[in-house]
Amino acid sequence: MTRPDGVPAQGPVVSPRVHGVIALVEENCTSCMLCARECPDWCLYIESHTETVPATTPGGRDRSTHVLDRFAIDFSLCMYCGICIEVCPFDALHWSPESDYSEGSLLDLTHERTRLSGWRATPAADGPSDVREPPDPVSGS
Ligand code: SF4
Ligand code: SF4
Repeated sequence: MTRPDGVPAQGPVVSPRVHGVIALVEENCTSCMLCARECPDWCLYIESHTETVPATTPGGRDRSTHVLDRFAIDFSLCMYCGICIEVCPFDALHWSPESDYSEGSLLDLTHERTRLSGWRATPAADGPSDVREPPDPVSGS
């Protein structure tokens, strides 16, 4: 269905397993940098600082923890390989089926943590495998 101006009234129907965009679960991220080190495109930008957490028990030792300052993905470079999602030990990244994030400038395709966290609203569905047409009985393809 199209509008009078020729623009489709609704987007295409996509597979529930589509790799749309990468969502960030901020509270799970420990700033370990594993995803950034494994990204083949070096398009993950992570910055953090260290804070000291006082001991909670008498005689205990203070410990240090990383606090996330920046987490961004440059989707103009990302090739959607999913390595960052696979290697994250804390499930802080996942695919979200959203794909409507085109921009007028490549520079605007760097999504900062706020936007990446917003993609959590549409978690990827655990849908079945993509449905394919049965093979042609004549050609077999
Ligand atoms: S999907 Fe691949 S290219 Fe994109 S940020 Fe993750 S590791 Fe890098
Ligand atoms: S997203 Fe995962 S792998 Fe990347 S820095 Fe955070 S915890 Fe580490």
